[in-house]
Amino acid sequence: MSCIFCRIAAGEIPAQRVLESEGVIAFHDLNPQAPVHVLVIPKRHIDSVGTAGEDDAALLGEVLLQCRRVADALNVTRGFRVVLNTGENGGQTVPHLHAHVLAGRSLGWPPG
Ligand code: AMP
Ligand code: ZN
Repeated sequence: MSCIFCRIAAGEIPAQRVLESEGVIAFHDLNPQAPVHVLVIPKRHIDSVGTAGEDDAALLGEVLLQCRRVADALNVTRGFRVVLNTGENGGQTVPHLHAHVLAGRSLGWPPG
């Protein structure tokens, strides 16, 4: 298995886990861009939102709900941002769908 996030999901590569539910896990980003920077991934490999299919609807919903649970678990009170970089122009560098949960500072808009 060569996908780095599949290997994290399988426990083959260590990660600082925050939460886990049936279909998804959340862990701290190695290179945080905000005081809170957590990644939420489906355990089952999906390349990106750009290739998600109709059968992935429930899992995608679980990813978003897990983002809310991460914010609750880490006592985020002043709002947060969920980012799903998708494909080359979207800035996606790891080809396993992941939602970034960013919080703990005011976040600029529009993104670069
Ligand atoms: P993206 O650029 O949207 O594909 O985001 C990939 C994210 O994965 C980046 O923020 C990286 O810092 C993060 N990342 C890469 N490898 C690891 C790892 N082994 N553990 C935690 N985060 C990672
Ligand atoms: Zn994967």
